[in-house]
Amino acid sequence: MTTTSKPYVIAADLGTTSTKTLVVDDKGTILASHAILYPMYTPTPDIAEQDPQEIYQAVLRGIREVIRKAGIRGEDVLAVSFSSAMHSLMAVDEKGEPLTPLITWADNRSAAYTARLKKEPTGREIYHRTGTPVHPMSPLAKLMWMRDQEPDLFAKAYKFIGIKEFVFAKLFGRYVVDHSIASATGLFNLHQLDWDELALATAGVDAVRLSVPVPAGHAETGLPAALAAEMGLPADTPFVVGGADGPLANLGAGAVEPGVWALTVGTSGAVRGIIREPRTDAKGRLFCYALADGYWTVGGAINNGGVMFRWVRDTLATLEAEEGRRKGMDPYDYLTELAHTVPPGSGGLLFLPFLLGERSPNWNANARGVFFGLAMNHTKNHMIRAVMEGVVYRLNSVAQALSETIGAPEEIRASGGFARSPLWRQMLADVLVKTVTVTDSVESSALGAAYIGFYAMGRFSRLEDIRDWVVARTSHRANSENYPIYKELTNIYARVYDQLIGEFDAIAELQHRSMP
Ligand code: ADP
Repeated sequence: MTTTSKPYVIAADLGTTSTKTLVVDDKGTILASHAILYPMYTPTPDIAEQDPQEIYQAVLRGIREVIRKAGIRGEDVLAVSFSSAMHSLMAVDEKGEPLTPLITWADNRSAAYTARLKKEPTGREIYHRTGTPVHPMSPLAKLMWMRDQEPDLFAKAYKFIGIKEFVFAKLFGRYVVDHSIASATGLFNLHQLDWDELALATAGVDAVRLSVPVPAGHAETGLPAALAAEMGLPADTPFVVGGADGPLANLGAGAVEPGVWALTVGTSGAVRGIIREPRTDAKGRLFCYALADGYWTVGGAINNGGVMFRWVRDTLATLEAEEGRRKGMDPYDYLTELAHTVPPGSGGLLFLPFLLGERSPNWNANARGVFFGLAMNHTKNHMIRAVMEGVVYRLNSVAQALSETIGAPEEIRASGGFARSPLWRQMLADVLVKTVTVTDSVESSALGAAYIGFYAMGRFSRLEDIRDWVVARTSHRANSENYPIYKELTNIYARVYDQLIGEFDAIAELQHRSMP
């Protein structure tokens, strides 16, 4: 069989809002894409679950649909390769049937367990061994919670797996997990690339109750005929495990070499760099997850990214947003225009954007939003600009921690909804004093998964060569005139944060107490 006659890889990205499928050729051209949405079930503020069968069906249908849309033959598909959201956990029985829904990263029920573990030396040690911050998002924490709160279920479970493992088990009857997803469970040793004894003992599970860890390029073959036919693929099509969406987004943005970081701000935000040996942060501010053979991603995620601008649009500046709509504009573009009327630094108005608490670098769930420095001359436009700047100051805090851990970057590749705003991108360049570029790749994680598919099939030998696929369209250089004011404001911002830590706890406690 000659594989060179098979020009396409299908990428499937199993996200928390949708499964996206792409058909990609070996130049990185996306021939077609398809998205299938599914809900998150949140019966209480602490529960965030999904139906794993719904996601499995979306994968089957997504692959069939994207083949149809691209107008290609299933025989021309070299491989199918996967990306998936991190940190999900479910229990299955011996037949592979779900015993629980899929508990997602957003589920908060294990918060009490992580609050305790974080204060213990074991918690710190687990972080340095696994690279996963001790946080309710992690499967380690979810297992601790399940063991105590659902002991019968915990005892009965045959395996504890994530969503991608569920899909692979349905298709091939084997439980395999790539190093990248495994390393985001909080149970996987980053150095040994195997399940971590201390973390397993803390969770109370044996390695046999988890999937077998495999590298990103590992492929399974031997689809059951009926499932192959349902997807429109030959039964011998290799299915490559791929990785986790965060690390793969770096790859898909072409940010693979030292000195090139990827920065994404959608609803939340993240800054990540790639290194060739695992490294954790002495102060515990960052995560470190495996990407693929010899590559690790280090970075930090923030809760309050683009969602802060959405809050401006829907709460603070509703009238202005409406005015924008009346003018036939995207309200975000109109709000950006209003922010543009105010000089850099928003006339000394600072915004600490912690409406959703915060993750990296301080991991302070009790942090809350603050406007600081309000004066009589400030207008709504100052507040709009201050919010945009506040998000950038926060990204800067993560970037500083990251620079201390892996060295400073030369270029930052920006993506996500915020990258549509030239003003916001320029603020980023000015505050971080770095060159900010934007690439054409919208679906970075899926594109990264497609590349891993070609790489696994031997079409590429170096992850760095994905740079041929990804073109940096626009670039912003730091404006030295803006730097002094931003420097002063970021210093005040850091001090205001430090001085408010106790008061954040007090107000969060009051809010919890008086919540209806
Ligand atoms: P998600 O994280 O849900 O995938 P997106 O990547 O689409 O979201 O990003 C949504 C966020 O991007 C919005 O909340 C907003 O902050 C920002 N955004 C979207 N469009 C624009 C725009 N034209 N200008 C500035 N910001 C924008």
